[in-house]
Amino acid sequence: MLTGAGVSAESGVPTFRDAQTGLWARFDPRELATPAAFAKNPRLVWDWYAWRRERVSRVEPNAGHRALVEIERRVPEFVLITQNVDGLHQRAGSRRIVELHGNITRVKCSREGTHVERWDASDGEVPQCPSCGALLRPDVVWFEEMLPPDALAAAENAASRCDLMLVAGTSAEVYPAAALPRFAEEAGAIVVEVNPDSTALSHRVDYALRAPSGVALPALVAASWTA
Ligand code: NAD
Repeated sequence: MLTGAGVSAESGVPTFRDAQTGLWARFDPRELATPAAFAKNPRLVWDWYAWRRERVSRVEPNAGHRALVEIERRVPEFVLITQNVDGLHQRAGSRRIVELHGNITRVKCSREGTHVERWDASDGEVPQCPSCGALLRPDVVWFEEMLPPDALAAAENAASRCDLMLVAGTSAEVYPAAALPRFAEEAGAIVVEVNPDSTALSHRVDYALRAPSGVALPALVAASWTA
């Protein structure tokens, strides 16, 4: 299973391609989610993530997230590979997750990469690493950064060993995640896309379910396990 931002859309988390709303509407994610942006204006980038983290903390997993928990419960080999950083799969109850792009709820040292559990940003400044004093940053993969090698290897391994891959809520434009369905395809797996719109992947998939994931995934579960 590969998920992208669209799976969280019905929870109220906008995809990057949706219009951003309110205060941050004029900021382009491709200009904020980069190492260069953080080097130039760490406060702006920190505040943007703090805003997204706060927004995510106020929403709930939706029926699509819950359907994937149900599939994990019933299919021992099920692996959930996600590009999402919002932690909603985990909050819904999914456990066998490969996080390709990190998680917005975690923070790490910008120099050493060590995770930091608690931080205080109440003075409005970007907090510093308690051990080395470098600035803290969100534990997410920015544009131009490498994916965590272990996560990428686990994702490629799962994709190349599966016999069915569901691909939900992703435009399939961000690599290397977008290449994963091809691993499945080359292994002879059936690839099913769940997305209301067609994507860069659509012409290659075996089946396309043109519906929101909050509708299509529960329907798949119901059709698979209720007589
Ligand atoms: P994307 O924004 O490129 O594409 C979203 C896709 O979801 C589109 O194809 C759209 O048609 C589809 N979609 C919209 N509503 C849907 C629904 N209800 N059900 C199913 N599909 C729906 O997202 P991406 O491919 O994940 O790539 C964007 C990058 O931005 C990723 O790296 C991701 O980490 C990051 N991102 C994450 C979040 C999040 O964690 N929630 C939000 C925004 C961006």
